[in-house]
Amino acid sequence: MSFQSKQAVTVIGLGPMGTAMTEAFLAAGHPVTVWNRTAAKADALVAKGAERAATVEEALRAHELVVLSLTDYDAMFAVLGPAAAALSGRVLVNLSSDTPARAREAAAWAEEHGARHLTGGVQVPPSGIGSSESATFYSGPRDVFETHRPTLEVLTGTDYRGADPGLAALHYQLMMDIFWTTMSGWLHAVTVAEAHGITAEEVRPYATSIVSSVPGFLSFYTPRVDAGQHGGDVDKLAMCTASVDHITQTAKDAGVDSSLPAAVLEIFRRGLGQGHADDSFTSLMETLRKPAA
Ligand code: NDP
Repeated sequence: MSFQSKQAVTVIGLGPMGTAMTEAFLAAGHPVTVWNRTAAKADALVAKGAERAATVEEALRAHELVVLSLTDYDAMFAVLGPAAAALSGRVLVNLSSDTPARAREAAAWAEEHGARHLTGGVQVPPSGIGSSESATFYSGPRDVFETHRPTLEVLTGTDYRGADPGLAALHYQLMMDIFWTTMSGWLHAVTVAEAHGITAEEVRPYATSIVSSVPGFLSFYTPRVDAGQHGGDVDKLAMCTASVDHITQTAKDAGVDSSLPAAVLEIFRRGLGQGHADDSFTSLMETLRKPAA
């Protein structure tokens, strides 16, 4: 395929992600125009063949397809707001993270200005950009997604979740919910280990093993959760609460902050108070549906 046949792209936002995306597009032979608030971040990309736009308006007018990689949607409104007149006819692929509500708001705002908006939730760090094995959630108008899918697949694999612009952001936040609580649990555990003179490296094989066991638990509990079955035939909340109590106490005894397991313990104890002692820990969904005042 010749250079000319590749779709031209504008990339706005050259943090680690936008930079990796621009590099991936350039490597695949796509003409790329870039703009970044801190203009110097474009220098290395210009040296590799990117065009530098002097203004946001110029960047928007350069190409139909505009990829946004900004810190959040506040940054998007800060960048695009003053240049809204140049939005008409553009396709905004917003790969900035934020909430589903913010994504819906941005999509409506873009439509008001004559642009189409695809929400994206990138599930990999910059090192995963350019690999089809990694994945990005997309949502928004299906026709827009299908038209631009081949170009977007230069960045990562794609997973279209539906027309609602909030869906990609929602799926992304669900995964971040799992990711950050898991990583925080790991960080807490290695801090407790460190207090006992045990390195993170020494813990690593065991940490890897317990995390590797999680898919098995997901397979077991997922159909039960979807069926609303929370029987305590395998685990009882009373036992689970005692376990979390022990984790909390072990951290306290080591002089380590215990607020993370204490937060889990508080939820588990509320579940006990709601009469779920003999049910599975998954009965806590009922507790979670009713946030504490
Ligand atoms: P950064 O926050 O490092 O950089 C994003 C860009 O936002 C920069 O170009 C920055 O400009 C710009 N920016 C921020 N605020 C403003 C503003 N008010 N006005 C103009 N420009 C602004 O983010 P990343 O590149 O790391 O990530 C981009 C998005 O991708 C984020 O939403 C992030 O959550 C998401 N993501 C990141 C991952 C990662 O591992 N990094 C993984 C998955 C998703 P300037 O250079 O001038 O500061």
